[in-house]
Amino acid sequence: MFYGRAKRKHNAANTTMLENLRNIGIIAHVDAGKTTTTERILYFGGSKHKVGDVDDGNTTTDFDPLEKAKGITINSAAVSLEWGDTQITLIDTPGHVDFTAEVERSLRVLDGAVGVFCAVGGVEVQSETVWHQANRHGVPRLCFVNKLDRMGADFYGCVQQMQDKLQVIPAVCTIPAGQDEAFTGVIDLIRMKFWKQDPNDPAHMKYEWTEIPATYQKQAVEWREKLLDAASHACDELLTAILDGHEIPEEMIRKALRIGTLTGKLTPVHCGSSKEFHGVRLLLDAVRDYLPSPADRPPVEGIVPKSKEKVLRKPEASEPFSALSFKTVSEKHGDLVFLRIYSGELRPGEFILNTTTGKQERISHIYRLFGDRRDRLEVAGPGDIVAVVGFKHTATGHTLCSVDQPMLLDEIRFPDPVISQALIPAKNVDETRLAEALGKMVRDDPTLKTKVDAETNQLILSGMGELHLEVSVHKLERDHGVKCTVGKPMVAYRQTLTKPIEFETRYIKQSGGRGKYAVIRMKYEPLSKEARAEWEAQLEEDEKPDPNGIYFVDEIYGGAVPKEYIPSVAAGFRQGCVKGAKYGFPLVDVRATLLDGKSHDVDSSADTFKLAALESFRDAQAHAGLIILEPIMNVVVHAPAQYQGALAGDINRRRGEILNLSSDKGRCMVHAYIPLSELFGYTSDLRNFSSGTASFTMEPSHYAAVKEELADIRQAS
Ligand code: GDP
Repeated sequence: MFYGRAKRKHNAANTTMLENLRNIGIIAHVDAGKTTTTERILYFGGSKHKVGDVDDGNTTTDFDPLEKAKGITINSAAVSLEWGDTQITLIDTPGHVDFTAEVERSLRVLDGAVGVFCAVGGVEVQSETVWHQANRHGVPRLCFVNKLDRMGADFYGCVQQMQDKLQVIPAVCTIPAGQDEAFTGVIDLIRMKFWKQDPNDPAHMKYEWTEIPATYQKQAVEWREKLLDAASHACDELLTAILDGHEIPEEMIRKALRIGTLTGKLTPVHCGSSKEFHGVRLLLDAVRDYLPSPADRPPVEGIVPKSKEKVLRKPEASEPFSALSFKTVSEKHGDLVFLRIYSGELRPGEFILNTTTGKQERISHIYRLFGDRRDRLEVAGPGDIVAVVGFKHTATGHTLCSVDQPMLLDEIRFPDPVISQALIPAKNVDETRLAEALGKMVRDDPTLKTKVDAETNQLILSGMGELHLEVSVHKLERDHGVKCTVGKPMVAYRQTLTKPIEFETRYIKQSGGRGKYAVIRMKYEPLSKEARAEWEAQLEEDEKPDPNGIYFVDEIYGGAVPKEYIPSVAAGFRQGCVKGAKYGFPLVDVRATLLDGKSHDVDSSADTFKLAALESFRDAQAHAGLIILEPIMNVVVHAPAQYQGALAGDINRRRGEILNLSSDKGRCMVHAYIPLSELFGYTSDLRNFSSGTASFTMEPSHYAAVKEELADIRQAS
């Protein structure tokens, strides 16, 4: 646990130290060995002297008991360690797809990442998803192929999959000496030496560099050539040295690999067995040698809130302060807010501005978290990832900056929840306490939402999947002492128009005194997936795609509707989308166009135009008709091959659409789209059905039309 008194004071990063900082994330499919690798990294990094093992449930980043029970890492905890002169901070990213938003937010604040792959499982679908997410954020990466000691390990097959599925150019830096039962350690292709681990050292610290075992000599030469070939594409100096037939210094290869990694031209690949402590220290060297420091990253971009002018902040102490809060964790003595500092410096006692809320905050303490302790800092600087105490109004995704130089960073976008459950407090639960606890949890996790259902008066909790809600209810009890049970899960249905429609609405009321007058001619169109994509592709640079596909277009020429009333028409339409007609589900994928209208000098107002738009949209829904849409999940199931037929049959019964079926080495994989409403209890069904040998991941994919009789239309979302 990282509680307890700070053992020593740290100086913050200053510009000379900036080059030595590495803020990295480990991205991996569940079970690839992320937790074990993290644990070994912390062990070798010296911040934890006891060797932990996930199978015993005592590792460092998984400090949440439920995470231990489930064997998955849910929270993005930030943990630092020292590797020689380099300070590495690991930002934990979850491997379960129910928590995609957690991955997204981690990617915003890290500078580089290590992809951990299982040598048996290879590149699995979830790793592909996260890999592409990382591509979008331009995060330089390395790969670590783990579990070389496991039965069925296939390092070279895994490298091939990286090429095929992730489209990377691998620069293989280490290869295994034997695999599976024959695995004895790793061969370094830069040194052309074998890392011989002392089998008699219980601390796993002793090793020596020896000659490459004769059996693997040929393979090593062949793969070194491939390594040099990949690296020389990134660096002319190396290419010339190779062409001239010169002896290649190790440093020249490392320099080329660094350039290649930072420019995305290649991806260094390391290998080992975290469980057996093999290859991890070379991986740490690779993190230091190839992954970027904050100084290598482009300056952070934001806007000045008032003028909307674009500003850039360099990672320098002399720049005005700017930071992003990427995680808040409620603690008994106040909230711990994790910050990524982009520019400037921060000291305890200072006031800073939360640009998102417009309120000032005072810092009482700044900490750097290690696996087993927290160190109090006197100052924190650019590139630092720290936890701060003393904030009152700061939630995940908020921008913090110096009071006199405000700037706003791009906010972190989170998807809308797809599943809801009624929360039923236990008999003795105090309502204020429950409300407080829920408020805190929603602040810590922006993909979690709560509301009171207007009709049933029930308290509703919404999130990204069944597991997500289960974990949240557990946290309510464990962290806040509030015990609740949950009702049946409910799907967040949506609706949209069945066809386009165009008509005029005359909102005219004359009842003595000042009347009401607004006439609008509107066109409403449902947007198919393709139509929506086409529309979004042509949005102006400063317009963001709407997460629900709701668009308003103004096509008024010559002032038929005065300019000042047009935003009210848009507002009326948007309000109408929140709770649609007939079933009350929100509307998605509709484009409304204001074509024409009339106004009155005295009787028109912003309000009358808003009311006219509301009425117009209500009529549009009645006349065009509505279809119900249900969330469809992207599901990947892994199981022993003998279950393939049964799995596919079960998915069909759940109204699923199978996208891909494959089997390899006695295991099978089924990739399917399945309606969320058919997936309730899937975790336990699958467990029973496969005697616990199958596993699956799911994430919201899209919405699709559902027959009215299949939708549980009593439940407004
Ligand atoms: P995570 O889900 O990615 O965090 O994976 P874990 O670190 O929890 O590991 C999943 C399982 O694989 C555990 O049972 C580990 O003991 C096991 N494991 C992790 N690394 C290795 C390895 O290098 N070799 C072998 N044989 N098993 C490993």
